[in-house]
Parts: sequence; structure tokens; C-alpha cells
Amino acid sequence: MIIILKNNAPKQEIEKLIEGIEALGNITANTIIGEHSSIIGLVGDTSRINEDDIAASDVVEAVKRVQEPYKMANRKFHPDDTVVQVGDTSIGGTGLTMIAGPCSVESEEQIVAVAEAVKKSGATMLRGGAFKPRTSPYSFQGLHDTGIQLLLEAKKITGLPIVTEIMSIAHIDLFADVDVIQVGARNMQNFELLKELGHCDKPILLKRGLANTLEELLMSAEYIMAGGNQNVILCERGIRTFETATRNTLDLSAVPMLKRLTHLPIIIDPSHACGIAWMVEPMARGAVAVGADGLIIEVHNNPQKALCDGKQSITPAAFDSLMQNLRPMAQLMGRTL
Ligand code: PEP
Ligand code: MN
Repeated sequence: MIIILKNNAPKQEIEKLIEGIEALGNITANTIIGEHSSIIGLVGDTSRINEDDIAASDVVEAVKRVQEPYKMANRKFHPDDTVVQVGDTSIGGTGLTMIAGPCSVESEEQIVAVAEAVKKSGATMLRGGAFKPRTSPYSFQGLHDTGIQLLLEAKKITGLPIVTEIMSIAHIDLFADVDVIQVGARNMQNFELLKELGHCDKPILLKRGLANTLEELLMSAEYIMAGGNQNVILCERGIRTFETATRNTLDLSAVPMLKRLTHLPIIIDPSHACGIAWMVEPMARGAVAVGADGLIIEVHNNPQKALCDGKQSITPAAFDSLMQNLRPMAQLMGRTL
């Protein structure tokens, strides 16, 4: 981090500023006094420094961060890819993770039928929402604890690990047997929730917020990791842009960029990104082509009757054909599917 000082800043004030910074520990300040301007170069662990606090000082002209503010999620400090183990399967590495299932768990018949079908097609995990973040309070909110029980039932029958979303830390006990806890886009910056999840030992699927930068996504991952939980999987699910033809805009450039910035695995959600069933397959192929570690796809046995996100849900038959069509792309990318 570089701090540019104001002209004629009093020496005493500069010393006070440096003292305050060095008191944070593991930081050394090197001051260069010039004729017209002076700068302080900070080396060491600057992740604890808030540049806005420094900029607020009367003697500071400007502050420039030269290193990313996230440490544990940073590839610079952890060059090898993280592989998150989930039961017998893993996310990251050479395999391609295929998470499939309905937006919401609706009934035992529905979740078991979808789980059996997607397993047959090659899915490695089952998704299904039990707590649903809906825009309208009058929309279906999920089956809550019953939904989780039904997911566990489908897991018992198929052996597929389950992924489901948490909306409140008050519900954490209900997630005791869940394999992967999803943090939805709307909760990406629910910092109290992230901190609590940092203290649990389950893999966390962290979705990018509707209008969040990649740095903000990585800082949210850092919250979980700083608490001790290193098993974070990132998910790009489309961001808000001016475009209205699709539900969101799938930011596929996030994949190569995140691969450079972080060692954490990255999966793509083409369903919420596009919001249209027929677009899921081409975007899924694109995701694999740019290096995603996996996909999370909404599959419903009767999309027209789905209680949530039917428009973007594909049928089990369409998922089966998507899997077939994805194989050559996966092979090209050196991924097993
Ligand atoms: C979901 O996965 O069903 C969901 C609500 O996703 P997102 O948080 O990305 O909108
Ligand atoms: Mn959904």
C-alpha cells in the first residue's frame, strides 16, 4: 500500500500516522521524503488496513492499494487449486461437478423423481431449495425443515450429496446432515451469516451477488475462510446489467479472472443467469469452455407446474441431452465427466 502525503505535512503528524499503522502488527512503513511530495510505502500484511481510514487523516493526500485486500482466498499465497471434498466426490481438480435439481423441493415424489433421473444422467450432486429467497412475500417460500428432510430422503435413495440454501443462521441446526450449504446471491454480503459459516466444517457454495464485483465476492469468501472454514466454492450466477432479454447477464469472464485471482473452485449457474430453459445448454457449454469447475442447473420434472423458477428449469430429458452434449467439451478441456 502506498500513502501519498500532503505537501508540508507536519513531521509529528506523519509519525503519529505511522505509529498507528505499525501498531496493527506485521507491517513496516518506509517513508520517502521528497522536495515537493512525500510518500509512505507499507510492506507486510496490509489486509487489516482500511484505506478509507488512512485517507481520512489530515496529512494524507491519497492512498493506493497495490495488493489485494483478501489473503486466504488469494492465489498469490496459495498457488495450488483448492479441491473441496464432498463425500465421495470433489469440486475442483480435473472432474467436472454437475449439481442438478429443482429450484425448490416441493414434494417427496418430485424430489426423488428428479434425483433419480439426474443421477442416471451423470449428476454428481442434488440441489433443491428448502428456504427460498423470493422477491414477493406472497410467493412460495419453500418447505423449510420438511424440505431438508425430503432432500435427505432423496440422498438416501440415490446416494447423491445434497446442496441447499441457508437464509438465516437461526436455522443452522437443520443443516446438520446437509453436504454443501449454499449462500444465495442475496446473502453474499450478509456478514454475520458468513462469519458463522466460517465456524462450521461444511463446504459453502457462495453465490455472487446480483450487483457485486469479483473483489467483493472474494472478500465474502475471505469472511468464511478467516473464521477457519477453507471449503469455499464460488458461483457466478449472472449479474444485473441494462439487458432485459435475459434474467441476468452471465459473466463468463468471471471464470478466467477468478482462476487468476483465487485458488478456490468456481462453478457456473446458467439457470439463474439466463432465466430461460433453452439457453441453459449453450451457456453450460460456454462455462466449461472457459474453465469452470462445474455447473449448477435447475431441473424439474414438470417445469410448467414448478412452484418457483419454472421458466428456467429444464426437464430431466433435456438434462440428459445436455450431459451428452457437454461431454466432448469437457474432454476438450481435459475434464472427466
Ligand atoms: C437458487 O439457487 O435457487 C437461488 C435462489 O439462486 P440465487 O441466489 O443465485 O438467486
Ligand atoms: Mn431458482
